[in-house]
Amino acid sequence: MSSETDDFLASAASVGELGDRAELRMRIAEADALYRIADAIARSRTLDDLLDEAIDMLLTTTGADRASVLLADDAGVMRYRAWRGVSDAYRAATEGHSPWAPDASDPQPVLVEQLADAGFDPALEEAVRAEGIGALAFVPLVHGSRLVGKFMLYHDRPHEWRPEELLLSRTIANHLASATVRTQAQEALRVSSDQLLTIMRTVDEGIVVQAPAGGLVYANDAAARLVGFGSAEDFLSASREEVLAQFEILDEERRPLEPDQLPGRVALRGETSERTLCYRVLATGEERWSFVRANPVYDASGEPVLSVSVIRDITAPMAAEQRLRFLARAGDLLGESLDYEKTLAAIAEMAVPTLAGQVVIDLLEDDGSIRCVGAAHVDPSRRDFVRELRLRYPPTAHDHPVQTAIRTGEPVYLTDVQAHVDEMSQDTEHAQAIRELANTSGIVVPLIARGRTLGTIQLGTIAPQPRFDAADVELAVELARRASLALDNARLYRAAQERAHAAEALEFVDDGVFLLDRAGIVRLWNPAAAAAFRVKAAKAIGRPVSELIRDWKTLQDRIPLATTQTGGSRRPQTVPVDVQGEERWLSISAVRFPGGTVYAFRDLTEERAVEQLKSDFVATVSHELRTPLAAIYGAALTLQREDIRLEESQRNGLLSIVASESDRLARIVNDILWASRLDSGQMRIAIESCNGAKLARQVIEALRSHVPETVELSVELEDDLPPVAADPDKLRQVLTNLIDNAIKYSPDGGRVVVDAARAGNAIRFRIEDEGLGVPPAEQDRIFEKFFRLDPNLALGVGGTGLGLYICRELVHRMHGRIWVVSDGRRGSTFFVELPAA
Ligand code: ADP
Repeated sequence: MSSETDDFLASAASVGELGDRAELRMRIAEADALYRIADAIARSRTLDDLLDEAIDMLLTTTGADRASVLLADDAGVMRYRAWRGVSDAYRAATEGHSPWAPDASDPQPVLVEQLADAGFDPALEEAVRAEGIGALAFVPLVHGSRLVGKFMLYHDRPHEWRPEELLLSRTIANHLASATVRTQAQEALRVSSDQLLTIMRTVDEGIVVQAPAGGLVYANDAAARLVGFGSAEDFLSASREEVLAQFEILDEERRPLEPDQLPGRVALRGETSERTLCYRVLATGEERWSFVRANPVYDASGEPVLSVSVIRDITAPMAAEQRLRFLARAGDLLGESLDYEKTLAAIAEMAVPTLAGQVVIDLLEDDGSIRCVGAAHVDPSRRDFVRELRLRYPPTAHDHPVQTAIRTGEPVYLTDVQAHVDEMSQDTEHAQAIRELANTSGIVVPLIARGRTLGTIQLGTIAPQPRFDAADVELAVELARRASLALDNARLYRAAQERAHAAEALEFVDDGVFLLDRAGIVRLWNPAAAAAFRVKAAKAIGRPVSELIRDWKTLQDRIPLATTQTGGSRRPQTVPVDVQGEERWLSISAVRFPGGTVYAFRDLTEERAVEQLKSDFVATVSHELRTPLAAIYGAALTLQREDIRLEESQRNGLLSIVASESDRLARIVNDILWASRLDSGQMRIAIESCNGAKLARQVIEALRSHVPETVELSVELEDDLPPVAADPDKLRQVLTNLIDNAIKYSPDGGRVVVDAARAGNAIRFRIEDEGLGVPPAEQDRIFEKFFRLDPNLALGVGGTGLGLYICRELVHRMHGRIWVVSDGRRGSTFFVELPAA
């Protein structure tokens, strides 16, 4: 007992107010114990402190030799929590022992005065004895009706437990029980709130608790970092002005947001609220996107008193989404218009600032030069500067990233643009300008379509934008891919349109044009080509030209070929082409370009025929004229000679040569006249009803004088031959020519038969001979102008080759037909058929 108690007892005794000293002593001890336990409870910060204090107190107040406190664990097993004077071995042997069942309803203290009387099981009794304990008391700690633990008092010797000891123990036990439970609860609460705070501190989500006035009650580190503070402490201790100066809050569309629309404020009005926000840190311009969800916390009366906002940083996914959105928009834009220059300029604008701080789009021209079509800068006032700089200093330097990208076809990524100023700049002023534009990192992606580089997109970051990373390069590559595709489409479309216009023009030109790809397949075949080769475009296009033009291989070698590189054109060459068995003369030239070869030609067959005719005419006529002239000249000279005396018969012979050759001359001239009149269209035909038989007889009579003796001329004409519709002069000419030929081409003599008969609605004249014959292959051609089977006079029969031509032309003009039948070996039969009158 403490000395204060003794003092107190002494003073109390002196006043003599209290009779029973023992009773008083006990009361005082009890009060002292209660005071101490209350004090211990108040002082102790933890349960262990409390229990330690309780052991000291138990020993001093009860006078026991040793003491211990055990608390029931979650399973109801008694575990030592504090002790004095008991060994480890003892505790180990006795832990878990309890005189009460864990769920005992009103457990009472168990007092053992002598170990031997306790009735313990032998093991327990042995353990107690071994510890040197003579007497012991079990005092339950009960809270409510729950057994929360026990305290034990031990005496080394047997001890008689007095009622006041029992009472004191129970009182202490009551207090200790409730203090233990309370401390335990407090401890649990502290632990869980510590845990909660730890959780709140460590979660990635920012957590902010706001009071109705808008003041911050709590914020975790994540929340602080989101808005640009280093830690929650800095954030919470910052003044309202400091906080507001730190960041700006924008909505999903980056529009400033009214403070009362913030989810935390909305929650303070009693509504759960969520939305996407952008915190723009003013100092750096950095933008952080958050998804904020705020819930109200209500007080007992149902009024919202706090709002708890959970802020999730969605900057990364948002950036990804914005990029995707940008790509989608760029894709739409590119797909919408064929005016790709305008579109690329718009894309440059669009890419700032989502993707970059500065964008320049250049196109590579056919001549290798570079033309800027789009320029944009985060600072709109600098856009024109960027463009002008590009115009003034096109990126032509070999090591300029634009050139590298064009050369390699790969994206170029510069982590530090400023370290490359020397490679890019052309003079100090240029270098200065590049520095001023202050790009930090850069990407140049080539625009490539179908293996051809069309240009580049150059992107640069400008602080405070973060430098580009691998994802940005990927995005740039994707953007370039889409832009290239659109660019290529637009160019193809434009080229196709130009080609369509060109093809349209080709439809109307008289010159034949066809285009072969590199494999020799026809890709274009204009109507003039179709007419010249007699193959329709629909049939020609897509087929190898060698299937359409005979002997293409040989022909191709003769066609002069220019290339687009060498430029200019070569003089066309006139070559014969076999068109379905007919020879056509084409003046043709070709130009090779990267995709194939285009051939252009003019069909000169007609012109060539005229040329040919002219030379044939000169050759034939001069020859044909020379023969009779020579004969006449010779005869005339002989007749004139005075040194030779000519017999009468000789004179007559020479005179008849002059006469017959003059006649031949006259016929030649006559033929030429007829032919020229036919060609010039001056021939008038006057068709009337004539007596064909009579006409034929007149012709034969006229010719009879020329008929050599070897030729037998006979006429088989029906007297009742119906009249024929013809021009009598022309018919006479036709028959004269045919009978004359029959005689002429029968050098070995033979019969010449002339007849005429009715054939349906026509009158058919037949002139048959037994002469040289006409080979079937030439039976059409003999009717052509100047055509002669024997132009070199091997068979000795002369002629102009005009006679049958005149016949055919005249017969056609009289609406008739003319043809020959012959096996080519012996004899020919010519037919002339004219309408009956
Ligand atoms: P030419 O002045 O040569 O007789 P033509 O136009 O009358 O000219 O005849 C053309 C060619 O046709 C002749 O050169 C000849 O080779 C052939 N020819 C014409 N008539 C006969 C015939 N009756 N028998 C055989 N060949 C003929």
